[in-house]
Amino acid sequence: MWTSPPKSWLFFLSNIFILSYLSSTCFALDFSSNNANLACSQARTSLGESIVQGVNDSDYQSAAEGYWNLFNTEFNPTCIVFPRQSSHVQIAMRSIFEFDVDYAIQAGGHSGMKGWNNVNSGILISFKFMNHISYEPSRDTITLEPGIRWGESVNALEPQGVSPVGGRVDDVGTGLLLGGGISFLSPAHGYAADNYVELDVVLVNGTLVTATESNQYSDLFRTLKGGANRFGIVTRYEVRAIHTGRASDKTWFGGLVTYPNTSFDAVARAVSHYTRDVDDPKAAILIYYGAIVLPDDTMTNFIGASFYYNGTELPDHIFGELLSIPTLSTSFGPLSWHDITFSLSEPLPSNGHGQLFEGTALAGGEDDLYEDVVRHWVNFTKTFTPDFNTSVLAFTPIPLSQTLIGRERGGNVIDPPLVPYNSIHVQVTLPFGIPQISPEMEEGRQLFLKQAPRSPGLPLYINECDAKQNVFETYGQYDFLKETHSKYDPTRFNIRHTNGPIGL
Ligand SMILES: Cc1cc2nc3c(=O)[nH]c(=O)nc-3n(C[C@H](O)[C@H](O)[C@H](O)COP(=O)(O)OP(=O)(O)OC[C@H]3O[C@@H](n4cnc5c(N)ncnc54)[C@H](O)[C@@H]3O)c2cc1C
Repeated sequence: MWTSPPKSWLFFLSNIFILSYLSSTCFALDFSSNNANLACSQARTSLGESIVQGVNDSDYQSAAEGYWNLFNTEFNPTCIVFPRQSSHVQIAMRSIFEFDVDYAIQAGGHSGMKGWNNVNSGILISFKFMNHISYEPSRDTITLEPGIRWGESVNALEPQGVSPVGGRVDDVGTGLLLGGGISFLSPAHGYAADNYVELDVVLVNGTLVTATESNQYSDLFRTLKGGANRFGIVTRYEVRAIHTGRASDKTWFGGLVTYPNTSFDAVARAVSHYTRDVDDPKAAILIYYGAIVLPDDTMTNFIGASFYYNGTELPDHIFGELLSIPTLSTSFGPLSWHDITFSLSEPLPSNGHGQLFEGTALAGGEDDLYEDVVRHWVNFTKTFTPDFNTSVLAFTPIPLSQTLIGRERGGNVIDPPLVPYNSIHVQVTLPFGIPQISPEMEEGRQLFLKQAPRSPGLPLYINECDAKQNVFETYGQYDFLKETHSKYDPTRFNIRHTNGPIGL
């Protein structure tokens, strides 16, 4: 016969029920946010209130909102650490590691990937106040702190006539280096990361190491040329100085061109030929097909292009085909490196807009595939007009000279095969203030990725990809990347606690 349990049992069971319910809901959240609070308060005790800030402190809001991509402003870090030196990052990382807390790093804040540079209920390390740069003539190197942006670095070193190899848009930050980094100097000097000389790196457990091409951390040094945010936090970059000259030294020639949409196929073929045939390290181009939704909800298309030659003209045997296509406008002339650095100051609206990236890669000379990728992108933009603000399909040729320089300098992990190719990137900018992409448009973006042609064996570019693309898998040194990751992060702490590239 069943007898009713004593009242004390019922009390016990109901408590178990309530506890298990709570632990599956708010306790799970409380646990992680408690740990984040503990890690924040431990770091704050060591570092002080100006370095470890909570939501009501003076610099918290501007850092939490300091992102190019609207999607990345929608996170709420428990606290933000504003280091002034490497030891501050070490202390923060030790607390993060000890309390098993989520974290993220903010340098220039330009990641197109949601969540790769911000965190909820965790610790954000912002390099806002570590933005010093200097040139050391005896070593002919430049030392960069991670908080500087490319335009600031070129301005700061203009009096000495040197520059680091950085990016093509002045507002972008040093996170670019960790993904490789493509500059108009890359055909002559490799990926930006191929110019590393020495790196200070804080590992997940808070240990600080200095990595060079030949010391005991040479494996780490190499993986940081393409390994993105997966291998540690770089607190100092020493890179080769490029003698680009003063702002008055007009050692380059070139400028900007626009083409009408009737030239779409002709430009696609010319880019294909340029990529296959041109291996002059003094030449650099960037081609961007643009789609803009107008106030009356119609769309307009154009092509913009930047052509540069480190010399006194645009030689016909290099630029002839591209220049034979009818244009809407051209503005060419003698230029300094300083002029070129500030020629692409984010031509499209960005702040306050959700942004999405995705990428593919095509070998030079496959004309049909170049036309095909343009067609798929045009279909995408026509289908989703007027639900986006702008979209860009950009072609960046990676000449053999760039790949060979990388190999001569000890190799990067991207390690493309010896084939000239194009790194192709699609950017979709949503209308102002729209916090997420609609499921239909997301499906359209994924369909583009499925249908857009891609030449086999070529690496994708991690700085300009979709978060779902397994870019690491396309690298020439994927196995080395995985081995080195297991060596420096054996508990996979970074993978478990930071958003970033998949595949490790
Ligand atoms: C408008 C625009 C123009 C661009 N132009 C170019 C270009 O010309 N060439 C090119 O190669 N790329 C270009 N990119 C892509 C750019 O390289 C990436 O967005 C890059 O990651 C931005 O770096 P950041 O420091 O500005 O951004 P962040 O968002 O601050 O950092 C990017 C990533 O690196 C991590 N990270 C940053 N610093 C560190 C560090 N010190 N240690 C460990 N992890 C770190 C961050 O957590 C994040 O995951 C462009 C992007 C945009 C939006």
